Amino acid sequence: MSRKKIVAGNWKMNMTIDESNDLINELKEVSENNVEIKIAPSFTNLYNAISLLTNSGIEVIAQNVHSEKRGAYTGEISTEMLKSIGVNTVIIGHSERRKYFNETDTILSKKVKAAVENSLNVIFCIGEELSERESGNHFDIIKNQLTNALIDLNNIEIKNIVIAYEPVWAIGTGMSANNHQIQEMHEFIRELINKKFGNDIADNIRILYGGSVKPNNAKEIFSLNDVDGGLIGGASLNFSDFHSIINAANG
Ligand code: PEP
Repeated sequence: MSRKKIVAGNWKMNMTIDESNDLINELKEVSENNVEIKIAPSFTNLYNAISLLTNSGIEVIAQNVHSEKRGAYTGEISTEMLKSIGVNTVIIGHSERRKYFNETDTILSKKVKAAVENSLNVIFCIGEELSERESGNHFDIIKNQLTNALIDLNNIEIKNIVIAYEPVWAIGTGMSANNHQIQEMHEFIRELINKKFGNDIADNIRILYGGSVKPNNAKEIFSLNDVDGGLIGGASLNFSDFHSIINAANG
């Protein structure tokens, strides 16, 4: 089974337009045949990033989207708006959205459904808190987050989904999960997909790891059987770190 690796940089609420342009100008020439490279700038930088990266090997993706098509939702961005500027992929369910913006499984499942119905690809994030892992509930938490969000999808729609396993305690802490923890959770996730959608879809779905991936641990993590790349926060804000991580995924 050969699944093409993905390295996606989540810039979060960082980068003015000038800072964004500077980093994109460094990234522009990077293209690795064996890796899909994506960056998720803030909404204010999306359009510009897309213009700068036309004909590059890098896809510009969004960090969030609303589930409604249009209307009185001040401050929100729709699937149609994203598509109209050339965005084809969106991150949904990041733990920071769950934690600081109270995005529940119900809200997230509506977002996922809206995205795939409008032909957007989704990087769907799931992950347990430290207390949930310490009390031994991490598999149940992951199972619930996954099934609650993907329950309504059919066998065609699920093909628009990439899953990102991001243990919350590893995000932005410099403390990555260890290889055993990562591989066993990725295997568990693939098995859940197998049960619901069958072997072929489970074999092909990409499962990324996120949580303090850095140049010094990326190669090891990406070499694990069920890891198909990474969702990168902090290290995606720096050209040389992000480039090293992309190279690590290139094999
Ligand atoms: C993230 O926010 O998705 C993430 C993985 O962050 P970091 O790489 O900084 O841990």
